Amino acid sequence: MMSLDEIRKDFPVLAEKVNGRSLVYFDNGATSQKPISVIRAITEYYKEYNSNVHRGVHHLSQLATEKYENARAVIQKFINASDLQEIIFTKGTTEAINIVASSWGREELKKGDQVIISAMEHHSNIVPWQMVCEEKGAELKVAPINQEGELIIEELFDLINSQTKIIALTHISNTLGTINPIQKIINKAHEYNAYVLIDAAQSIHHMQIDVQKLNCDFLAFSSHKMYGPTGVGVLYGKKNILEQMRPFQGGGDMIKEVTFEKTTYNDLPYKFEAGTPNIAGVIGLAEAVKYINKIGFDFIHQQESLLLKIATNSIKELPGLQIIGNAKQKSSVVSFIIDEVHSFDIGTLLDQLGIAIRTGHHCTQPLMEFYKIPGTARASFAFYNTEEEVSLLVDGLKKALKMLV
Ligand code: PMP
Repeated sequence: MMSLDEIRKDFPVLAEKVNGRSLVYFDNGATSQKPISVIRAITEYYKEYNSNVHRGVHHLSQLATEKYENARAVIQKFINASDLQEIIFTKGTTEAINIVASSWGREELKKGDQVIISAMEHHSNIVPWQMVCEEKGAELKVAPINQEGELIIEELFDLINSQTKIIALTHISNTLGTINPIQKIINKAHEYNAYVLIDAAQSIHHMQIDVQKLNCDFLAFSSHKMYGPTGVGVLYGKKNILEQMRPFQGGGDMIKEVTFEKTTYNDLPYKFEAGTPNIAGVIGLAEAVKYINKIGFDFIHQQESLLLKIATNSIKELPGLQIIGNAKQKSSVVSFIIDEVHSFDIGTLLDQLGIAIRTGHHCTQPLMEFYKIPGTARASFAFYNTEEEVSLLVDGLKKALKMLV
């Protein structure tokens, strides 16, 4: 078992100074920091075996292909997918959702059909559905939330009927930290033969996800939020559904045979991986999964819950400060507003103290509309953060309150 000190040493950025202070990195919801093993795996690829995949007979290409395909197996095991062909490498969560909305939605949705999302979705799980619904004449329905930031399950269930073709839902809200009861929702949707896409961008690194147990039809996540590199992510889809879907993009690697008259498409998963993929990114992502497995979800949960509890209790006590998102089931995110103060000003003052938080609408404008606020300040914690860092945040907020209110 590694100590927190040892874990922190694995993340070089955490030793950086910002504005003369030790960096306190509380913007993990936007993107996480990367352990040295991930950074090393990426540089090794470029230094030692940089080559394209699936093409060359030469040694380097074979090595790169082997590492790339091993990464697929690492991801398959991580989410317990039943088949390697169900793991598609994408640019990230956004692209993964767009693949489903475009390849599945444009083929399957028709006038009168319904797509259900929730009021707490990230723009990337709203706009692709809006686009395809508009094009196909389908209806986009939005499951409401209460003031605490929890889905109103009964109202969501009331929306589901035989016209419902898919429910696209975030597992954890990036703005509120709410953990949604996805198992219940998946079970309900399946009673109506509707598919469920889970946006796991904010959950994949906080808890073990087992796609077979969940029985979700699609799952999307990004590498960069789970200690891996940017520009890569995963779409998991059930094989029988993916097989029926049209390709998302045309190009190299996704074909079996091309003539000017007709092209036959490659088998899964390559049908959805047109062009040279982010090879270094995929290799880095697999290394990130190995790192998560090494730390273990027990430790991750324990540390993040502790930080959430301490931060919530201290921030709650600060005068004029209000936490947005008080769900009973929450991940390590504290979003808050201060009376009359713009979140940007809080963020700027904290930055002067070396504390990085996120401010603004967090790509959830409809959610901000629901709370009638322009944005929040958001601190999001990872397992490498410490109780001392939370104290620094609270001290920083006290200073900010003195100056701004
Ligand atoms: N969904 C959620 C819940 C997110 O938090 C994010 C990233 N903020 C996304 C989707 C989009 O992820 P990406 O930008 O990596 O594609």
